[in-house]
Amino acid sequence: MRIGIDVGGSKIEGVALTNRGKERARIRVPTPVGDYSATLAAIGALVDRLERETEPAASVGIGIPGAISPATGMVKNANATWLIGRTLDRDLAALLGRPVRVANDADCFATSEAADGAARGLAIVFGVILGTGVGGGIVVQGAPLAGANAIAGEWGHNPLPWPEDDERPGPLCYCGKRGCIETFLSGPGLALDHSAAGGQNIPASEVVRLAGEGDARAEATLQRYEKRLARALAHVVNILDPNAIVLGGGLSNIQRLYARVPQLWSAWIFSDHVATCLLRNRHGDSGGVRGAACLWPPPDA
Ligand SMILES: [Zn+2]
Repeated sequence: MRIGIDVGGSKIEGVALTNRGKERARIRVPTPVGDYSATLAAIGALVDRLERETEPAASVGIGIPGAISPATGMVKNANATWLIGRTLDRDLAALLGRPVRVANDADCFATSEAADGAARGLAIVFGVILGTGVGGGIVVQGAPLAGANAIAGEWGHNPLPWPEDDERPGPLCYCGKRGCIETFLSGPGLALDHSAAGGQNIPASEVVRLAGEGDARAEATLQRYEKRLARALAHVVNILDPNAIVLGGGLSNIQRLYARVPQLWSAWIFSDHVATCLLRNRHGDSGGVRGAACLWPPPDA
């Protein structure tokens, strides 16, 4: 049995997979935002519950919105900022009494979707999380590309490319810079953009619902979002030239993105024809847990 845990900005999700990759149990709990000890305890309790529902002594892989720094062994680049500077892998290993593997959540997501998901069998895959934060992961020939600094694919804290005048300098990001892609394309970013343009102060999911009902202001917000996503992804295509880009996270549920964004992005992609596909994930908006479970090979492999 392999357990995968995905630590998100609003929820922690756990899944227990059989050695053949079949899902046996899945549990979601709210993230104890801002509290490191409570986050450790919540992960420990989740592993306990999954093992009680399935079988004990599972391997545990964790996906986090950040990375363990190869230089310090501590978490860096996490929009769940209370994890930054913590030795999460070692603390969880002590708590759970077994080694754990920790990887970037977007890398887990991309690996899972490239293995048996929407981008199965494709050579170069860019996996994107559009959720509380914005992350990216690169998979080449089925293997995640970690990189020398463990940041490969982390384009969420690059500036929004080809900005329009009213997008400069852009909203302040938790990383200390302004105008990061994350500040425009995350769920809170979409919600902030909507209220800044005179709309109601409502979550991204509500903006999407209103746009579906024909609300003009919500529709305009979604059109701005689509154009920004197209520019942000065009930038990636010009560097990585992936076969597919797979979207995950809560905002990947906006079905119109898959038709609209590829209509827009060719304006910024340096190619006569764009073969890259924009795909909705196959494993649901929480596909990262499967990739986290697969950080360990099956015991009999
Ligand atoms: Zn940033």
